[in-house]
Parts: sequence; structure tokens; C-alpha cells
Amino acid sequence: MKVSFYGRHPAESETKYMKQCLASSLETDGFFLKKLLSEAGKRFPSSQCLFTASCSSALETALASLDLEPGDEVILPSFNFPSAANSVLLHGGIPVLCDIDRNTQNLSVADVSRRITGKTRAVIAVDYAGVAFDVEALRAVTDEAGLVLIEDAAQGIGSAYDGKPLGTLGDMGAVSFHHTKNITCGEGGMLLVQRQKYFEACRMYRLHGTNRASFLAGDVKLYSWCRKGSSTALGEPSAAILAAQFEVLSEVTERRRAIADVYIERLACLESQGAARLMKVPEKAEINGHIFYLRFETERLRRQVQEYLLSREIECSTHYVPLHASPMGKILGYGEKDLPESLACGKTLLRLPIHSQMDLQQAECVAEQVKRGVNHGM
Ligand SMILES: *Cc1c(COP(=O)(O)O)cnc(C)c1O
Repeated sequence: MKVSFYGRHPAESETKYMKQCLASSLETDGFFLKKLLSEAGKRFPSSQCLFTASCSSALETALASLDLEPGDEVILPSFNFPSAANSVLLHGGIPVLCDIDRNTQNLSVADVSRRITGKTRAVIAVDYAGVAFDVEALRAVTDEAGLVLIEDAAQGIGSAYDGKPLGTLGDMGAVSFHHTKNITCGEGGMLLVQRQKYFEACRMYRLHGTNRASFLAGDVKLYSWCRKGSSTALGEPSAAILAAQFEVLSEVTERRRAIADVYIERLACLESQGAARLMKVPEKAEINGHIFYLRFETERLRRQVQEYLLSREIECSTHYVPLHASPMGKILGYGEKDLPESLACGKTLLRLPIHSQMDLQQAECVAEQVKRGVNHGM
């Protein structure tokens, strides 16, 4: 049974909204962007929201508001996509890589504490697989040290922690609508700002460093260049697709969670067998089924299971080469053995297919083939 790794969930209103959009002037922050903002106002009532061209550009927008000075440091996990580290570099800071927790693959709060210096300004916490980082423990550390907490909730749409949506757990949070994420407009992102203190700077950065947003709101007579900026707004055609995608978010999340439930039930035996550990969901975390992963005991067993699944047309995938072990990590001065848990995770983690276009029978079949692959390999 062929099972693909990704599956885009088409939304019924997409075509209608696109037609309506094409009949407009495509002006930035137009009708569909406003529709998105009203949707975000309902879903994230405690945050101010800026829709951006990508999650990467949302992170850049957030970092711009910190006004980093040369030598300022920002701590973030090595087991991550490069976007957060790039956003620090692009604004003149130094990304300081930390290790991860072996249960959640999110940053290790103990390791963050060890890396805080007089130069540390912020921490960027990732919600890997749409599972929240250790919120209470990290907040205690960042509050104590007076650090800004930025959440890389790229994978977090539809997930929550203690009833709060991911992206709203820190001072600012970035979400992705890239084509690989649960809902998508091809390329797109969202920055959720919980502190008024940073909002105005983010809003200006997004519109070329100008106060155009205040001008459009009628608060200033002319708009002009006010601070360092870029162009990171989400375009109107993408906003039209994303507005339609938000309408299917709960359905997508439910379907993905149901697939995760099948994997959890059918693959628990791998833990007792000592072959692999299943992804762990902390008590207060609610997942969105963005990723389902296993961490095998050895790199060899992972390779064997991966090859076994691929030979049966079941697409599965490893994930990041940890940043510290990448060519850029070497340039930044890291050695491969510096962050052992991140390195081990990069070598032993395998992601199984999970998306709304799969049915439960396919999930059962994938689980069965994983077990066969393990027995074949052991
Ligand atoms: C997808 C992803 C990104 C990048 O998102 P874009 O919208 O493509 O910029 C960044 N960080 C993490 C953890 C991601 O999963």
C-alpha cells in the first residue's frame, strides 16, 4: 500500500476566494489580510498578529524589534531548522546553540541555564512536532535572567499548552504556513506578539521600516522611514488561500490526531521491546499531529526500518542534521560532539507519514510495516 509523506488538505473556499482576490487591486493588507486578522483575533485574543511571507520572515521581524548590539547572544536549540539561527545572524547577534531534552527533542532548560552570559538577550524555543517546550521551567529561567522569550512555533498551528495556543507562550511567537505544514498557502507565516513593547517595531519592520500602518489607521498625516526595516508582509493572493485554509484547520487537526492515536496504540510495543521510543506528549500539551516520530535505539536500526518502509512504498523521513554539526555550525566554531543529545537525535529519529489525506487503515498498515521492519532489522 503506497503511503505518501505529505498531503495537502484542499479547502472548499479556496477557488472562490482566489477569484474574488484576483478581481481586486491585490493591495497589501487588503480584504483577505483583514479577514485573516479577524480570524486571528478570535483564535489568539491575547496577542497582536502580523501575517508575514514566511515563518522565517516572522522570526526576522521579531529579532529586529530587539535592537541587538554586536556581541549580543541568543540561545536556541541545535536540533532545529536554520531559520531561527539565521534571524539572529541577520540582525547582528550571535546564535548560541544548546542541547535538547531526549523525551521531547525541545531545548533542555538546564542546558539553556548553563549557556546564559552577561551578553545573552533572548532565548528562541522551538515546539518540535507541534509539542510545546517546557514552558514553566523556561519562563522561570528567562524571567530570572531578564531575557526575551521567542517561540519558534513554526509547526504549532492547532496545538496548545495548558489551553493556550502555541505561538502565544513567549513574548513573541512565529508560525509557518509553508507547504509542509498542517495548513498552508504555499509560503506564509504569522507573528504573534504578546508584548506591546515590541509590537510597533515589528509592525514597522514588516512595512519597510515605515509607519505606514499608523498612516493607514489615520494616526499620522504622512508616512516615512522610521527604523531598520524590510518587506515581510504576506501578499494578498496568499492571504486569500490562507483564509480558506483556516476554515479547515479543526478538521485537519482532528484527522492528524487520529493518525497519531493509531501509531501510539500500535507501536507502544516497540518501547517494551527496547527498539525505539515513541514521541512523548507532556501532560498539559495538546498536539496537532504535525509530525509523528520514533527515536530508534541505534542509527543502524533506523536505517534498516527506513529502507524497509521505502521498499514497501511507505514514505518516511529523517529530520535535521543538528545545526552545530552542519557546515555553518563548524564555521560558528562548534564541534560535532559538543551537543550529544542533538547529535544522537539527528541520527536516530524517523518521521512516519501523517496528514489529513491518509485514512486510519493506511496508518494501521504503516504501523504493521514498522514492526516488521524492526523485527527484520533486529
Ligand atoms: C517550517 C519551519 C521553519 C520555516 O518556516 P518557513 O515558513 O518556511 O519560513 C522554521 N522553523 C521550523 C521549526 C520549521 O519547522
